[in-house]
Amino acid sequence: MNTPTNPPRYVSTRATNPNKRLSFQEALLAGLAPDGGLYIPTHIPSITPDSWQDADSFASLGQQVLWAWLADDVDKTTFDTIISDALNFPVPVHPLLDDVFVLELFHGPTLSFKDFGARTMARLMNYFLQQQGRTLTILVATSGDTGSAVADGFAGLDNIDVVLLYPKGKVSNIQERQLITARPGVQALAVQGSFDDCQRLVKAAFVDEDLAHLPLSSANSINIGRLLPQSLYYFWAIKTLQKQGIDAANVCVPSGNLGNLTAGILAHAMGLPVQHFLAAHNANDFFPEYLHAKTDAYAFKATVATASNAMDVGSPSNFERLEHLLGEPMREHIWGMSVDDGTTKTTLQHHAEAGYLACPHTAVGLHAVTQYRKQTGDTTPAIVLATAHPAKFPDVLRETGLTPPRVEALDVLFERDTNVMPLAADPVALKDYLLGQTVASS
Ligand SMILES: *Cc1c(COP(=O)(O)O)cnc(C)c1O
Repeated sequence: MNTPTNPPRYVSTRATNPNKRLSFQEALLAGLAPDGGLYIPTHIPSITPDSWQDADSFASLGQQVLWAWLADDVDKTTFDTIISDALNFPVPVHPLLDDVFVLELFHGPTLSFKDFGARTMARLMNYFLQQQGRTLTILVATSGDTGSAVADGFAGLDNIDVVLLYPKGKVSNIQERQLITARPGVQALAVQGSFDDCQRLVKAAFVDEDLAHLPLSSANSINIGRLLPQSLYYFWAIKTLQKQGIDAANVCVPSGNLGNLTAGILAHAMGLPVQHFLAAHNANDFFPEYLHAKTDAYAFKATVATASNAMDVGSPSNFERLEHLLGEPMREHIWGMSVDDGTTKTTLQHHAEAGYLACPHTAVGLHAVTQYRKQTGDTTPAIVLATAHPAKFPDVLRETGLTPPRVEALDVLFERDTNVMPLAADPVALKDYLLGQTVASS
């Protein structure tokens, strides 16, 4: 068992005063830095192989690896309970082809990898708030997987309420069900507008002086508290391959906002042997273009809609973090590619015929791995991250001529009570709701 001596502090990527260092707890509760930057660690703890190679469960691996990061903020017993409670679902490594493996990250309650970050972050936040005798209302604008993972992860925690805004009529039937299912401490608001309207309302609430007295916070993917737990499954995948005698591997990450990839880079910096990272993007191709040195840093693009909609991000926020963590060698570390919808669907069909049904996001990764091998001749065994369960995307599967699978976890949602209120796409409407809410509950 490694005894952490010096867990990192956190500084903003835009900090002008590098002496301003936050504890993990402060960075977690703040989310975004006040200067608009993202929190990054002052150093990366190195994790000795024995602390992850011999772990006999995912939770015990998490208890070993993350302790090096959190030892200053929480006692070991509380920490162990939080981790085993949050990360209590299977994380299988599925052999797909001879030397291509799929790391299935969709066996948590809302069937996407977002459960790892959201569940861990929720429990840590709740613990710190309890210690401080504070409560918090989390406001989230969502169009998909983040909202359901946050709603589920934070539900029923004593010191945190969640208010979810989603664009009415603009999310799939299943996504909407996942958002509006009644959960203790969670209110869904169906906004008569677009996703951008939802984001605009949330941003307005954060700067509204009339709401300044409310303890509002966010839980979006830029929070460092979501990234750290996501680094764990990289260790888990490599460990599983090592047990099969495979010592070197590349990892392919279907990417949008680049949070997942950043978590992999953190794992590598902790000492995890990953040969190359492959960033698989859909038509939102800023990052692959940047890697191929075709565009400059921050030549961000407008978002385009694709069949892998959870990766529809034109200006990935975590790019700023990657740049600070890796700098220019980013291009040596990471290979990237953009995959169009037609190819994604052909890839889905191809693997379905061979017996493996993937989600559209995972299919982008599966195609990128094949191309990487062809283009570079590097046939090192590869792990593709399967980011969501295919059953979450029945429309894309049907368009591709495939039959969506039925899963119990989604079917039961349609039998549960719902809790949703309509909301005009107007900041005043959200303000009235939030003010009325606090009056009613105090
Ligand atoms: C969020 C999401 C992604 C993209 O992950 P990033 O961390 O934003 O790069 C990929 N696939 C699915 C299914 C997702 O929900």
